[in-house]
Amino acid sequence: MTEKTCKNCTSPFEVTQEDQSFYKRLKVPPPTFCPTCRLQRRLAWRNERHLYNNTCKKCGTNIIALYQKNTEYTVYCQKCWWSFDWDPRQYAQEINFNRPFFEQWGELFKKVPVINLNNERTSMVNSDYCNYVTDAKNCYLVFAANFLEDCMHSDYIWESKDTVDCSNSTALELCYECTDCDRCYNCNYVTNSQGCSDCHLGYDLKNCDNCFACVQLRNKRYHFLNKKLEEEEYKNRVKKTLANPTLLAQTQKEFEELNLEHPREYTRQLRCENSTGNAIKNCKNCHSCFEGYGGEDLKWVDNFPGDTKDSYDISGCAEIQLCYDSACVGLPAYNMRFCNMILNGGRDMTYCAFMDVGREQFGCIGTKKAKHCILNKQYSKAEYERLVQKLIAHMTETGEWGEFFPAELSPFKYEETVANLYFPR
Ligand SMILES: [Zn+2]
Ligand SMILES: [Zn+2]
Repeated sequence: MTEKTCKNCTSPFEVTQEDQSFYKRLKVPPPTFCPTCRLQRRLAWRNERHLYNNTCKKCGTNIIALYQKNTEYTVYCQKCWWSFDWDPRQYAQEINFNRPFFEQWGELFKKVPVINLNNERTSMVNSDYCNYVTDAKNCYLVFAANFLEDCMHSDYIWESKDTVDCSNSTALELCYECTDCDRCYNCNYVTNSQGCSDCHLGYDLKNCDNCFACVQLRNKRYHFLNKKLEEEEYKNRVKKTLANPTLLAQTQKEFEELNLEHPREYTRQLRCENSTGNAIKNCKNCHSCFEGYGGEDLKWVDNFPGDTKDSYDISGCAEIQLCYDSACVGLPAYNMRFCNMILNGGRDMTYCAFMDVGREQFGCIGTKKAKHCILNKQYSKAEYERLVQKLIAHMTETGEWGEFFPAELSPFKYEETVANLYFPR
Protein backbone atom coordinates (compact mmCIF):
# COMPACT_ATOMS: atom_id res chain seq x y z
CA MET A 1 0.00 0.00 0.00
CA THR A 2 1.21 3.51 -0.77
CA GLU A 3 -0.01 6.69 0.81
CA LYS A 4 -0.49 9.63 -1.51
CA THR A 5 -1.41 13.27 -1.05
CA CYS A 6 -4.38 14.56 -3.04
CA LYS A 7 -3.25 17.09 -5.61
CA ASN A 8 -6.54 18.95 -5.18
CA CYS A 9 -7.36 19.05 -1.43
CA THR A 10 -4.00 17.85 0.01
CA SER A 11 -5.68 15.13 2.12
CA PRO A 12 -3.82 11.83 2.37
CA PHE A 13 -5.30 8.81 0.58
CA GLU A 14 -4.27 5.20 0.10
CA VAL A 15 -3.57 3.19 -3.00
CA THR A 16 -3.70 -0.50 -2.07
CA GLN A 17 -2.03 -3.44 -3.79
CA GLU A 18 -5.42 -4.36 -5.22
CA ASP A 19 -5.95 -0.82 -6.55
CA GLN A 20 -2.51 -0.96 -8.16
CA SER A 21 -3.34 -4.14 -10.03
CA PHE A 22 -6.65 -2.63 -11.22
CA TYR A 23 -4.86 0.46 -12.59
CA LYS A 24 -2.33 -1.83 -14.26
CA ARG A 25 -5.08 -3.79 -16.04
CA LEU A 26 -6.67 -0.53 -17.23
CA LYS A 27 -3.21 0.73 -18.27
CA VAL A 28 -3.63 3.98 -16.32
CA PRO A 29 -1.39 5.58 -13.69
CA PRO A 30 -2.59 5.67 -10.05
CA PRO A 31 -4.83 8.71 -9.40
CA THR A 32 -3.46 12.02 -8.16
CA PHE A 33 -6.83 13.12 -6.70
CA CYS A 34 -8.35 11.46 -3.61
CA PRO A 35 -11.61 9.48 -4.14
CA THR A 36 -13.78 12.38 -2.92
CA CYS A 37 -12.15 14.94 -5.22
CA ARG A 38 -12.44 12.50 -8.12
CA LEU A 39 -16.17 12.15 -7.44
CA GLN A 40 -16.62 15.92 -7.22
CA ARG A 41 -14.79 16.39 -10.54
CA ARG A 42 -17.03 13.83 -12.29
CA LEU A 43 -20.24 15.26 -10.83
CA ALA A 44 -19.30 18.76 -12.00
CA TRP A 45 -20.23 17.41 -15.45
CA ARG A 46 -23.71 16.32 -14.43
CA ASN A 47 -26.48 18.89 -14.77
CA GLU A 48 -29.49 16.86 -13.80
CA ARG A 49 -32.28 19.31 -13.05
CA HIS A 50 -31.47 22.79 -14.29
CA LEU A 51 -33.55 23.03 -17.44
CA TYR A 52 -33.97 26.06 -19.68
CA ASN A 53 -36.04 27.15 -22.64
CA ASN A 54 -33.91 27.09 -25.73
CA THR A 55 -34.13 26.72 -29.50
CA CYS A 56 -32.68 23.94 -31.63
CA LYS A 57 -29.81 25.42 -33.68
CA LYS A 58 -30.63 23.09 -36.59
CA CYS A 59 -34.41 23.14 -37.00
CA GLY A 60 -35.43 26.10 -34.83
CA THR A 61 -37.92 24.18 -32.67
CA ASN A 62 -38.49 25.42 -29.13
CA ILE A 63 -36.93 22.97 -26.72
CA ILE A 64 -36.19 22.34 -23.08
CA ALA A 65 -32.43 22.09 -22.65
CA LEU A 66 -29.66 21.70 -20.12
CA TYR A 67 -28.04 24.75 -21.68
CA GLN A 68 -29.16 28.35 -21.36
CA LYS A 69 -30.26 30.29 -24.41
CA ASN A 70 -27.04 32.32 -24.57
CA THR A 71 -24.78 29.26 -24.27
CA GLU A 72 -21.67 29.11 -26.45
CA TYR A 73 -22.46 25.47 -27.22
CA THR A 74 -24.47 24.43 -30.27
CA VAL A 75 -27.61 22.77 -28.92
CA TYR A 76 -29.68 20.41 -31.07
CA CYS A 77 -33.11 18.97 -30.26
CA GLN A 78 -33.41 15.20 -29.75
CA LYS A 79 -34.68 14.64 -33.28
CA CYS A 80 -31.89 16.59 -34.97
CA TRP A 81 -29.10 15.34 -32.72
CA TRP A 82 -29.96 11.68 -33.26
CA SER A 83 -30.46 12.04 -37.03
CA PHE A 84 -27.74 10.89 -39.38
CA ASP A 85 -27.89 13.94 -41.65
CA TRP A 86 -24.95 15.58 -39.92
CA ASP A 87 -21.58 14.01 -39.29
CA PRO A 88 -19.72 14.93 -36.08
CA ARG A 89 -16.52 14.05 -37.91
CA GLN A 90 -16.89 17.25 -39.95
CA TYR A 91 -15.51 19.05 -36.86
CA ALA A 92 -12.37 16.88 -36.84
CA GLN A 93 -9.16 18.34 -35.42
CA GLU A 94 -5.55 17.35 -36.00
CA ILE A 95 -3.67 16.48 -32.84
CA ASN A 96 -1.17 19.17 -31.94
CA PHE A 97 1.61 17.58 -29.93
CA ASN A 98 2.93 20.99 -28.88
CA ARG A 99 -0.17 21.89 -26.90
CA PRO A 100 -1.96 20.36 -23.89
CA PHE A 101 -4.60 17.80 -24.90
CA PHE A 102 -7.47 19.17 -22.78
CA GLU A 103 -7.11 22.60 -24.38
CA GLN A 104 -7.64 21.03 -27.83
CA TRP A 105 -10.46 18.81 -26.56
CA GLY A 106 -12.19 21.90 -25.08
CA GLU A 107 -12.02 23.66 -28.46
CA LEU A 108 -13.59 20.68 -30.21
CA PHE A 109 -16.32 20.60 -27.56
CA LYS A 110 -17.35 24.16 -28.40
CA LYS A 111 -17.84 23.17 -32.07
CA VAL A 112 -19.67 19.82 -32.02
CA PRO A 113 -23.45 20.12 -31.44
CA VAL A 114 -24.68 18.83 -28.08
CA ILE A 115 -27.95 17.08 -27.32
CA ASN A 116 -30.55 19.22 -25.47
CA LEU A 117 -31.23 16.58 -22.80
CA ASN A 118 -29.23 13.49 -21.93
CA ASN A 119 -31.85 10.96 -22.94
CA GLU A 120 -31.84 8.10 -25.37
CA ARG A 121 -34.40 9.39 -27.86
CA THR A 122 -35.57 6.16 -29.43
CA SER A 123 -36.64 4.73 -26.08
CA MET A 124 -38.58 7.82 -24.95
CA VAL A 125 -42.28 8.31 -25.62
CA ASN A 126 -44.12 11.49 -24.63
CA SER A 127 -41.54 12.32 -21.95
CA ASP A 128 -40.03 15.63 -23.03
CA TYR A 129 -39.27 17.02 -19.59
CA CYS A 130 -37.03 14.25 -18.31
CA ASN A 131 -33.25 14.08 -18.11
CA TYR A 132 -30.77 11.23 -17.73
CA VAL A 133 -33.62 8.88 -18.57
CA THR A 134 -34.05 5.98 -20.97
CA ASP A 135 -37.03 3.76 -21.75
CA ALA A 136 -39.75 6.03 -20.44
CA LYS A 137 -43.35 6.48 -21.54
CA ASN A 138 -45.65 9.30 -20.43
CA CYS A 139 -43.26 10.59 -17.78
CA TYR A 140 -42.87 14.16 -16.57
CA LEU A 141 -40.03 15.73 -14.57
CA VAL A 142 -38.31 12.46 -13.84
CA PHE A 143 -34.53 12.40 -13.51
CA ALA A 144 -31.86 9.72 -13.54
CA ALA A 145 -34.19 6.84 -14.13
CA ASN A 146 -35.19 4.15 -16.58
CA PHE A 147 -37.85 1.62 -17.56
CA LEU A 148 -40.81 3.75 -16.50
CA GLU A 149 -44.39 4.38 -17.43
CA ASP A 150 -46.71 7.13 -16.19
CA CYS A 151 -44.35 8.49 -13.53
CA MET A 152 -43.69 12.04 -12.46
CA HIS A 153 -41.74 14.23 -10.03
CA SER A 154 -39.30 11.48 -9.15
CA ASP A 155 -35.61 10.73 -9.32
CA TYR A 156 -33.42 7.63 -9.22
CA ILE A 157 -36.34 5.28 -9.77
CA TRP A 158 -36.17 2.22 -11.95
CA GLU A 159 -38.65 -0.23 -13.49
CA SER A 160 -41.66 1.62 -12.09
CA LYS A 161 -45.21 2.53 -13.06
CA ASP A 162 -47.85 5.05 -11.98
CA THR A 163 -45.57 6.57 -9.41
CA VAL A 164 -45.30 10.15 -8.16
CA ASP A 165 -42.83 11.94 -5.87
CA CYS A 166 -40.59 8.93 -5.24
CA SER A 167 -36.82 8.58 -4.95
CA ASN A 168 -34.15 5.88 -4.99
CA SER A 169 -36.50 2.98 -5.56
CA THR A 170 -37.07 0.04 -7.86
CA ALA A 171 -40.18 -1.74 -9.11
CA LEU A 172 -42.82 0.56 -7.65
CA GLU A 173 -46.37 0.68 -8.82
CA LEU A 174 -49.06 3.14 -7.78
CA CYS A 175 -46.79 4.64 -5.11
CA TYR A 176 -46.59 8.15 -3.71
CA GLU A 177 -43.85 9.75 -1.60
CA CYS A 178 -41.84 6.57 -1.18
CA THR A 179 -38.07 6.55 -0.77
CA ASP A 180 -35.58 3.66 -0.76
CA CYS A 181 -38.25 1.10 -1.53
CA ASP A 182 -38.29 -2.02 -3.66
CA ARG A 183 -41.23 -3.97 -5.13
CA CYS A 184 -43.99 -1.95 -3.48
CA TYR A 185 -47.56 -1.54 -4.65
CA ASN A 186 -50.06 1.13 -3.67
CA CYS A 187 -47.97 2.54 -0.83
CA ASN A 188 -47.81 6.13 0.41
CA TYR A 189 -45.14 7.78 2.59
CA VAL A 190 -43.22 4.55 3.04
CA THR A 191 -39.44 4.51 3.43
CA ASN A 192 -36.79 1.80 3.26
CA SER A 193 -39.25 -1.04 2.67
CA GLN A 194 -39.55 -4.05 0.40
CA GLY A 195 -42.32 -6.19 -0.99
CA CYS A 196 -45.17 -4.21 0.60
CA SER A 197 -48.62 -3.31 -0.61
CA ASP A 198 -51.40 -1.02 0.59
CA CYS A 199 -49.29 0.49 3.37
CA HIS A 200 -49.46 4.09 4.50
CA LEU A 201 -46.69 5.77 6.47
CA GLY A 202 -44.06 3.18 7.28
CA TYR A 203 -40.39 2.61 7.89
CA ASP A 204 -38.43 -0.57 7.27
CA LEU A 205 -41.33 -2.89 6.48
CA LYS A 206 -40.76 -6.20 4.69
CA ASN A 207 -43.49 -8.16 2.93
CA CYS A 208 -46.31 -6.37 4.75
CA ASP A 209 -49.71 -5.36 3.51
CA ASN A 210 -52.35 -3.12 4.99
CA CYS A 211 -50.16 -1.63 7.70
CA PHE A 212 -50.57 1.97 8.85
CA ALA A 213 -47.88 4.00 10.62
CA CYS A 214 -45.75 0.95 11.37
CA VAL A 215 -42.04 0.45 11.91
CA GLN A 216 -39.81 -2.58 11.28
CA LEU A 217 -42.51 -5.19 10.75
CA ARG A 218 -41.99 -8.45 8.84
CA ASN A 219 -44.78 -10.35 7.04
CA LYS A 220 -47.58 -8.53 8.87
CA ARG A 221 -51.09 -7.48 7.94
CA TYR A 222 -53.68 -5.14 9.53
CA HIS A 223 -51.29 -3.43 11.93
CA PHE A 224 -51.78 0.13 13.12
CA LEU A 225 -48.86 1.76 14.95
CA ASN A 226 -47.36 -1.75 15.20
CA LYS A 227 -50.46 -3.21 16.91
CA LYS A 228 -52.45 -6.04 15.38
CA LEU A 229 -56.10 -5.26 14.71
CA GLU A 230 -58.98 -7.24 13.28
CA GLU A 231 -59.58 -6.52 9.58
CA GLU A 232 -62.79 -4.53 10.12
CA GLU A 233 -61.31 -2.59 13.03
CA TYR A 234 -58.20 -1.77 10.97
CA LYS A 235 -60.21 -0.55 8.00
CA ASN A 236 -62.41 1.67 10.17
CA ARG A 237 -59.45 3.16 11.98
CA VAL A 238 -57.62 3.94 8.73
CA LYS A 239 -60.74 5.53 7.27
CA LYS A 240 -61.31 7.62 10.39
CA THR A 241 -57.66 8.73 10.58
CA LEU A 242 -57.40 9.73 6.93
CA ALA A 243 -60.63 11.74 7.18
CA ASN A 244 -59.52 13.74 10.21
CA PRO A 245 -56.44 15.97 9.79
CA THR A 246 -55.96 16.42 13.55
CA LEU A 247 -56.07 12.67 14.14
CA LEU A 248 -53.73 12.10 11.17
CA ALA A 249 -51.21 14.59 12.56
CA GLN A 250 -51.41 12.92 15.98
CA THR A 251 -50.85 9.48 14.38
CA GLN A 252 -47.93 10.82 12.43
CA LYS A 253 -46.38 12.13 15.66
CA GLU A 254 -46.84 8.75 17.34
CA PHE A 255 -45.30 7.06 14.29
CA GLU A 256 -42.24 9.29 14.53
CA GLU A 257 -41.84 8.46 18.22
CA LEU A 258 -42.24 4.76 17.48
CA ASN A 259 -39.65 5.07 14.72
CA LEU A 260 -37.11 6.59 17.12
CA GLU A 261 -37.56 3.72 19.60
CA HIS A 262 -36.38 1.18 17.06
CA PRO A 263 -32.66 0.67 16.52
CA ARG A 264 -31.64 0.67 12.88
CA GLU A 265 -28.95 -0.79 10.68
CA TYR A 266 -25.83 1.35 10.34
CA THR A 267 -26.04 0.95 6.56
CA ARG A 268 -28.71 -0.22 4.16
CA GLN A 269 -27.50 -3.32 2.39
CA LEU A 270 -29.67 -6.12 1.09
CA ARG A 271 -28.20 -9.49 0.11
CA CYS A 272 -24.66 -8.05 -0.03
CA GLU A 273 -21.42 -9.87 0.59
CA ASN A 274 -18.13 -8.29 1.68
CA SER A 275 -19.34 -4.81 0.75
CA THR A 276 -19.28 -1.30 2.19
CA GLY A 277 -21.37 1.72 1.29
CA ASN A 278 -25.07 2.45 1.50
CA ALA A 279 -28.35 1.78 -0.31
CA ILE A 280 -27.02 -1.19 -2.22
CA LYS A 281 -28.44 -4.64 -2.90
CA ASN A 282 -27.27 -7.90 -4.46
CA CYS A 283 -23.64 -6.77 -4.35
CA LYS A 284 -20.42 -8.71 -3.89
CA ASN A 285 -16.99 -7.25 -3.10
CA CYS A 286 -18.16 -3.67 -3.56
CA HIS A 287 -16.47 -0.96 -1.54
CA SER A 288 -17.58 2.62 -0.95
CA CYS A 289 -20.49 2.05 -3.31
CA PHE A 290 -23.81 3.89 -3.13
CA GLU A 291 -27.31 3.68 -4.62
CA GLY A 292 -27.23 0.64 -6.84
CA TYR A 293 -27.77 -3.05 -7.29
CA GLY A 294 -26.15 -6.04 -8.95
CA GLY A 295 -22.53 -4.93 -8.49
CA GLU A 296 -19.43 -7.10 -8.27
CA ASP A 297 -15.81 -6.07 -7.59
CA LEU A 298 -16.51 -2.34 -7.56
CA LYS A 299 -14.90 0.56 -5.74
CA TRP A 300 -16.16 4.13 -5.46
CA VAL A 301 -19.15 3.53 -7.73
CA ASP A 302 -22.48 5.31 -7.31
CA ASN A 303 -25.82 5.21 -9.11
CA PHE A 304 -25.52 1.76 -10.73
CA PRO A 305 -28.83 0.12 -11.64
CA GLY A 306 -27.70 -3.38 -12.49
CA ASP A 307 -25.00 -5.67 -13.78
CA THR A 308 -21.92 -3.60 -12.99
CA LYS A 309 -18.60 -5.39 -12.67
CA ASP A 310 -14.90 -4.89 -12.09
CA SER A 311 -14.89 -1.07 -12.19
CA TYR A 312 -13.63 1.90 -10.17
CA ASP A 313 -14.80 5.51 -9.89
CA ILE A 314 -18.02 5.49 -11.86
CA SER A 315 -21.01 7.79 -11.36
CA GLY A 316 -24.04 6.53 -13.22
CA CYS A 317 -23.77 3.26 -15.09
CA ALA A 318 -25.39 -0.06 -15.90
CA GLU A 319 -24.13 -3.21 -17.58
CA ILE A 320 -20.48 -2.26 -17.44
CA GLN A 321 -17.22 -4.08 -17.01
CA LEU A 322 -13.63 -2.90 -16.65
CA CYS A 323 -14.42 0.81 -16.63
CA TYR A 324 -12.63 3.58 -14.77
CA ASP A 325 -13.24 7.18 -13.74
CA SER A 326 -16.24 7.79 -15.98
CA ALA A 327 -19.75 9.16 -15.68
CA CYS A 328 -22.90 7.85 -17.35
CA VAL A 329 -21.60 4.92 -19.29
CA GLY A 330 -23.19 1.58 -20.04
CA LEU A 331 -25.96 -0.36 -21.62
CA PRO A 332 -23.39 -1.91 -22.14
CA ALA A 333 -19.83 -0.64 -21.75
CA TYR A 334 -16.45 -2.35 -21.63
CA ASN A 335 -12.97 -0.97 -21.05
CA MET A 336 -13.83 2.72 -20.86
CA ARG A 337 -11.53 5.28 -19.27
CA PHE A 338 -12.34 8.92 -18.57
CA CYS A 339 -15.59 9.01 -20.52
CA ASN A 340 -18.75 11.01 -19.89
CA MET A 341 -22.24 10.43 -21.19
CA ILE A 342 -21.92 7.64 -23.71
CA LEU A 343 -25.38 6.61 -24.85
CA ASN A 344 -26.19 3.09 -26.02
CA GLY A 345 -22.93 1.48 -25.12
CA GLY A 346 -19.24 1.67 -25.83
CA ARG A 347 -16.04 -0.28 -25.89
CA ASP A 348 -12.34 0.55 -25.63
CA MET A 349 -12.77 4.32 -25.44
CA THR A 350 -10.79 7.00 -23.67
CA TYR A 351 -11.64 10.68 -23.12
CA CYS A 352 -14.87 10.51 -25.13
CA ALA A 353 -18.09 12.33 -24.30
CA PHE A 354 -21.70 13.00 -25.30
CA MET A 355 -21.93 10.35 -28.00
CA ASP A 356 -23.96 7.47 -29.33
CA VAL A 357 -22.39 3.98 -29.34
CA GLY A 358 -18.73 3.87 -30.10
CA ARG A 359 -15.60 1.81 -29.93
CA GLU A 360 -11.86 2.35 -30.13
CA GLN A 361 -11.96 6.14 -30.00
CA PHE A 362 -9.89 8.71 -28.14
CA GLY A 363 -10.90 12.26 -27.31
CA CYS A 364 -14.03 12.25 -29.45
CA ILE A 365 -17.26 14.19 -28.93
CA GLY A 366 -20.70 13.46 -30.36
CA THR A 367 -19.60 10.78 -32.84
CA LYS A 368 -22.12 8.11 -33.72
CA LYS A 369 -21.32 4.45 -34.18
CA ALA A 370 -17.77 5.50 -35.13
CA LYS A 371 -14.46 3.67 -34.76
CA HIS A 372 -10.76 4.62 -34.82
CA CYS A 373 -11.29 8.37 -34.40
CA ILE A 374 -9.19 10.83 -32.41
CA LEU A 375 -10.55 14.33 -31.79
CA ASN A 376 -13.32 13.32 -34.25
CA LYS A 377 -10.81 12.70 -37.07
CA GLN A 378 -11.07 9.35 -38.81
CA TYR A 379 -7.90 7.21 -39.00
CA SER A 380 -7.07 3.71 -40.16
CA LYS A 381 -6.76 1.12 -37.38
CA ALA A 382 -2.95 1.05 -37.56
CA GLU A 383 -2.63 4.83 -37.61
CA TYR A 384 -5.14 5.13 -34.73
CA GLU A 385 -3.17 2.73 -32.58
CA ARG A 386 0.13 4.47 -33.29
CA LEU A 387 -1.28 7.94 -32.56
CA VAL A 388 -3.02 6.85 -29.33
CA GLN A 389 0.32 5.62 -27.94
CA LYS A 390 2.00 8.87 -28.99
CA LEU A 391 -0.84 10.93 -27.46
CA ILE A 392 -0.70 9.04 -24.16
CA ALA A 393 3.06 9.70 -24.02
CA HIS A 394 2.39 13.38 -24.73
CA MET A 395 -0.32 13.58 -22.06
CA THR A 396 1.96 11.85 -19.56
CA GLU A 397 4.45 14.65 -20.14
CA THR A 398 1.84 17.39 -19.75
CA GLY A 399 0.49 15.71 -16.59
CA GLU A 400 -2.94 15.15 -18.14
CA TRP A 401 -2.86 11.38 -18.62
CA GLY A 402 -4.91 9.62 -15.96
CA GLU A 403 -7.04 12.66 -15.07
CA PHE A 404 -10.76 12.96 -15.80
CA PHE A 405 -11.88 16.03 -17.80
CA PRO A 406 -11.14 19.12 -15.68
CA ALA A 407 -14.26 20.66 -14.10
CA GLU A 408 -13.32 23.97 -15.80
CA LEU A 409 -14.19 22.44 -19.18
CA SER A 410 -17.69 21.42 -18.05
CA PRO A 411 -20.41 23.19 -20.06
CA PHE A 412 -22.39 23.72 -16.85
CA LYS A 413 -22.01 26.20 -14.05
CA TYR A 414 -20.90 24.44 -10.88
CA GLU A 415 -24.17 25.51 -9.19
CA GLU A 416 -26.17 23.68 -11.88
CA THR A 417 -24.45 20.36 -11.31
CA VAL A 418 -24.90 17.49 -8.91
CA ALA A 419 -21.42 18.29 -7.55
CA ASN A 420 -22.99 21.33 -5.90
CA LEU A 421 -25.56 19.15 -4.11
CA TYR A 422 -22.89 17.04 -2.41
CA PHE A 423 -20.10 19.59 -2.23
CA PRO A 424 -21.78 23.02 -2.09
CA ARG A 425 -19.55 25.99 -2.60
ZN1 LIG B 1 -8.86 15.44 -2.48
ZN1 LIG C 1 -33.98 20.27 -34.17
